[in-house]
Amino acid sequence: MAVKVLLIEDEAAIREMVAMSLLARGSYSVHQADSGEAGLALLEVLVPDLVLLDWMLPGMSGIEFARRLKKHPTHREIPIIILTARGEEEDKVRGLEVGADDFVTKPFSPRELLARIKAVLRRTAPIPGGGQVNVEGLALDPVAHRVWVGEDTLDIGPTEFRLLRFFMTHPDRVFSRAQLLDNVWGTNVYVEERTVDVHIRRLRNAIAGRGHDRLIQTVRGTGYRFSARP
Ligand code: CA
Repeated sequence: MAVKVLLIEDEAAIREMVAMSLLARGSYSVHQADSGEAGLALLEVLVPDLVLLDWMLPGMSGIEFARRLKKHPTHREIPIIILTARGEEEDKVRGLEVGADDFVTKPFSPRELLARIKAVLRRTAPIPGGGQVNVEGLALDPVAHRVWVGEDTLDIGPTEFRLLRFFMTHPDRVFSRAQLLDNVWGTNVYVEERTVDVHIRRLRNAIAGRGHDRLIQTVRGTGYRFSARP
């Protein structure tokens, strides 16, 4: 089945280049929009597998579109790759905060874009075997984007959700900050390693209510591990 891509880009030349290079692969279908508003309208009738989102759009900005998508009850899980201008590191950090999955910096080659798309689809693929994971009563549903303990749904930010999802599906292994950045933030984003610590702290706070913060262990000199073992 073709991977459905929603491409939101106001520059016709880039839109056509991206659409043509994806269609040429034979395994993608591309739906195009020239504004965030037009993209939202398409989402009324379409559930894409991935959104390619230009950051600088007339009208609704890319960040606003991403924010709305990530709040949408059925579309929040759709991965977003942002198309951004060179050197806009601050945009990248803000994009991650609203739940974008990766970035491609303009100008990019079709080959680079395809590699990013594949990596993001791999990283965000549903967990085999139904999806929900549960460790010591801490439960996560990657499709519903929900984390809960017993009857209580936990309030958790998009980055913390991705971090927890990665941890819960890769338990008992130590990851360095660089490895976490690579797996959770994506390789194309420049984020300082101490940013990992900030999100680990937020994640621990979010799951601390019934003591699940103990599952995220600091491994001195190395990084972090998610484990039910002490
Ligand atoms: Ca633009």
